Amino acid sequence: MKQINTLGAKSIVDVNLTPSSEAESSLFFYLPKAREVQNQLRVLGDLGQLRGAVSRTRGRMSRLGLSSILDLLLHFPRTYLDLSTIKKISELQVDSKVTVIGQVRTIDKRRSFSGKDILQIVISDGSGYLIGVWFNQNYLADLFKVGDQVAFSGTVKFNYGSLQIVNPLYDVLDGPGTEETDVLNTCRIIPLYPLTAGLSPRTFRKLIFRAIREFSDFLDLLPLTFRMSQNLDLLSSEALEQIHFPSAKNLLLISRRRLIFEELFLLEFALAMKKRSAFQLPGVALSPDRKILEFMEGLPFRLTRAQRRVMGEIWKDLSQPHPMNRLIQGDVGSGKTIVAIIALMTAVFNGYQGAFMVPTEILAEQHYQRLCFLVKDWGVKVALLTSSLTPGQRKSFYEDMARGEIDIVIGTHALIQENVAFRNLALAVIDEQHRFGVRQRGRLKDKAVFPHLLVMSATPIPRSISQTIYGDLEVSLIDEFPQGKRDIKTILVEESHRERAYQLIKQEVDKGKKAYVICPLIDESDKMELKAVLQETEFLQNVVFKDYQVGLLHGQINSVKKAQIMEKFRGDGVDILISTTVIEVGVDVPEATVMLIENAERFGLAQLHQLRGRIGRKGDRSYCLLCADLREKEEAKKRIDAFIKISDGFKLAERDLFIRGEGQLFGERQSGFPDLKIASMVRHKKIIGKVREKAFAFLEDHRFRRSQKLLQACCHRLLPPRFFEDQG
Ligand code: ADP
Ligand code: MG
Repeated sequence: MKQINTLGAKSIVDVNLTPSSEAESSLFFYLPKAREVQNQLRVLGDLGQLRGAVSRTRGRMSRLGLSSILDLLLHFPRTYLDLSTIKKISELQVDSKVTVIGQVRTIDKRRSFSGKDILQIVISDGSGYLIGVWFNQNYLADLFKVGDQVAFSGTVKFNYGSLQIVNPLYDVLDGPGTEETDVLNTCRIIPLYPLTAGLSPRTFRKLIFRAIREFSDFLDLLPLTFRMSQNLDLLSSEALEQIHFPSAKNLLLISRRRLIFEELFLLEFALAMKKRSAFQLPGVALSPDRKILEFMEGLPFRLTRAQRRVMGEIWKDLSQPHPMNRLIQGDVGSGKTIVAIIALMTAVFNGYQGAFMVPTEILAEQHYQRLCFLVKDWGVKVALLTSSLTPGQRKSFYEDMARGEIDIVIGTHALIQENVAFRNLALAVIDEQHRFGVRQRGRLKDKAVFPHLLVMSATPIPRSISQTIYGDLEVSLIDEFPQGKRDIKTILVEESHRERAYQLIKQEVDKGKKAYVICPLIDESDKMELKAVLQETEFLQNVVFKDYQVGLLHGQINSVKKAQIMEKFRGDGVDILISTTVIEVGVDVPEATVMLIENAERFGLAQLHQLRGRIGRKGDRSYCLLCADLREKEEAKKRIDAFIKISDGFKLAERDLFIRGEGQLFGERQSGFPDLKIASMVRHKKIIGKVREKAFAFLEDHRFRRSQKLLQACCHRLLPPRFFEDQG
């Protein structure tokens, strides 16, 4: 029988690096060979270069997002089918998955009573007979000839007195013109790809195999010495070959490891570049002086240790003549705002302007109030830019900004959407970064030459991951609450106990506390949903809480009115605030100790955590009451369960990822973050940190200068342009 030549099974010994093609490259300077470099460029070209990729096939491939040879090479198998066990027909066991090799004896096309076409091909290997059976695919008969050596793979059945495989995978092994590419569907571990309608797995395997054969002889991105130090045995071209057509399971594993490493490495390397180039930009050095210390002494409270540490980190950055790029992470209520305010005041005392961008108008208003109160003795001019300014006010606002008569401006997206001209913006703060895309961050930076940037986030994502997502930022952590740990009891309220929940709200309000009732409004502009909220409010005001003052807040209320309602809620006018999620982020009313969340099953974990963050902000015992319909909602049940048990924002974020999968993290297209092809932020989070360190060190290592250039070029080709957009 003919020896089946798969991809030339390599043993581990073969792929060890010792005498490979790289032997001639010197130890530290890996000199790429011209041919390899050329392939490097060819592989980025379009699929038209690939023999057999006809235009119809290419059209279908483009639906999978595959347009270049490289795309194709990086379209990894979803899973594999091990058909490498080749059995004699006499040894076959019913229901086993095997490959059988034999000679075609008869080819029989017929039509069944029910009108189905049936194709039966009998093969024999000398030890017995086996029938391959196909329904309604009689055209396949033309692919086989009596006498051909063929392989059938699939599950063995015993029907009508004979051994059969229905719909076997097949390869013709020695027909005329048989090439190596003809044995891609049987006899080996075969790849199964995520495909689209109209693309047959056979065609796909063939094309990928060709691409590997003809194009994957390109330069390895990582230099030899570096790979040796990381125990990465395979060249990336070998790894690519093995990931598609593994010759053994262990090689598949090694290849996966290699490619995962490389994907993460490339990403982290790109981040390192981004970070470095940002750091090389000119910026203004701001120094904290006596005035800022006096300002801090005048604050109504002393900073926590964590806040002081972070302040120190910020000042260190600000005093450099390069723009700061720093992220403050701190759970809800850890006191991020004051840190931002002190940083802004540092800019002002140095004679510059500052900007404070927030995701909602309510939050803008709240920060504005607080800031005005804190700076009232300092002759600092603070302005609020919202959508509700009249054209006249807007005009004079612009003029004041440009002339530098405003020191600190607070606003929502309006700040970047409109063309606000600053006189000398030195620091931009972005609150609740996760609400904005990276793009918007970039746009705010454009406003002046290169202002310092401080972004703040209440950690909707675990730290290991945020380090990469915000990878070009330095991270500061506020890991301490001003009032010690919060004391919040989270309770799932049975529908039959609703009355008790209302009772609890009344008790708290009677003690002088404030309460929230949250009604989900998925789409703030949905009239029907809004109506339901209005009805609920009426019911609560007129029936349940008729002796209390109830206020209502939702997205359709204009910002002046919103501000008034919040004002009342902070003061005496409103005891119970019914609200949609417009209050979700940042709102700070320290007296609030109870929150009832309606339809809690509709909210995501991050959102629930943000909501719960609105209560117990002074450290008082507080209650988060959940009303939820959990019938037949497994995922919601898991979410609510986790929410009740876990109060730590970081842990909750991890849990959330676990429940929802990581798609959500990067689903946000605007983030400019690339889709990972083989690595996973969640599954490989343990190695990400290490790869990151290595990639950052690699960029600074002069021995790898050549490889750095190549990597840079690759990063720019492989990562979405947006990824690099906000580089100042
Ligand atoms: P977040 O980190 O969620 O944005 P905030 O900045 O709104 O939190 O702060 C939460 C509350 O804690 C605010 O009422 C704020 O005034 C208060 N706060 C912040 N820092 C301190 C501190 N060092 N001592 C006492 N209270 C503080
Ligand atoms: Mg905040």
